[in-house]
Amino acid sequence: MSEAQGGGIEGALEALRSGFAARFAAAATEQALRDENAKILGKKGELTAILKDMGKVPGDQRKAIGEKANLVKQEVEKGFESCLKALAKQKRDADLHAAPFDLTLPGRAPAQRGHAHPLSIVRDEIVGIFRGLGFGVHDGPEVELEENNFTKLGFPPDHPAVDAQDSFWTKGGLLLRTHTSNVQVRAMTTQKPPMAFVAPGAVYRRDDDATHSPHFHQIEAFLIDENVTLAHLKGVLAEFAERFYGPGTPVRLRASYFPFVEPGAEVDIGCVFCKKPDGTRPGCNLCKKTGWIEILGCGMIHPVVFEQCGIDPEKYTGFALGMGIERVAMLRYDIPDVRLFFENHPRFLAQF
Ligand SMILES: [Zn+2]
Repeated sequence: MSEAQGGGIEGALEALRSGFAARFAAAATEQALRDENAKILGKKGELTAILKDMGKVPGDQRKAIGEKANLVKQEVEKGFESCLKALAKQKRDADLHAAPFDLTLPGRAPAQRGHAHPLSIVRDEIVGIFRGLGFGVHDGPEVELEENNFTKLGFPPDHPAVDAQDSFWTKGGLLLRTHTSNVQVRAMTTQKPPMAFVAPGAVYRRDDDATHSPHFHQIEAFLIDENVTLAHLKGVLAEFAERFYGPGTPVRLRASYFPFVEPGAEVDIGCVFCKKPDGTRPGCNLCKKTGWIEILGCGMIHPVVFEQCGIDPEKYTGFALGMGIERVAMLRYDIPDVRLFFENHPRFLAQF
């Protein structure tokens, strides 16, 4: 009886030892291999089940059977490890020999590309038109001396723009320029006529509402030579309107006052929003039912400005014009609030 018990356990161990290699080899995946290993060596596995009758084995046989069980266990563990390695190698070989990428996969959407800000788009287009008319591009500082921003342009000291309430003053007679006309002063004090420049840039005023921002952008254009007249100014304006707002866009000048020009004028163009195919303009909300839209201020450069900048006003004449880039862009894209340009919300910018 006790002999039979010992022989039965030995036989079962032998059957396990001779059979496990084939069972491991049949496992096609790592998980299947681990499952098979657990069936043999797990807590409720076959080896445990075989050894549960060890108590019935006679004492003199227990040692031999225990050693045999340990050997089988070690053999199974070794077999499991080597099968695990073989499976990993098989998987790596398959990866290495696979095609490097799958041409049949659908393409990924291309990354979104940025683009120019609407104010830059409008500025570049306006500058491009003036360059096409023969104007050069001139730059100037945004922090400027009072004399270049006001005095040489003929602003009287009591003009409201000079007041601390309307401009951003720093120290020592310096302020953030209130217009790009400082470029005109700098060009006239350092160069001799003839000259024709366009000057785009940022300017600053103490204004803040839906149509005014304390920081905004202007483009100034000026031309100085002998015998320049108002007719030249109107010719340039007509050409600009034609190129920027479309063929046949009418231009009109309304007399107005600016300190540094005489005569001065505000310039209207025929409304581009209510224009009909036959060329008539019945009026709309954007032109306040008039058929005209104001786009800029201009005039003949005042003789006092020439004198202040060291140019002989008896010999030379010239014109200057200036427009707000935000206003031009608001009209073009029908944007109701100037602050949208500076908040730079991605959903706003994506429309341009
Ligand atoms: Zn209109």
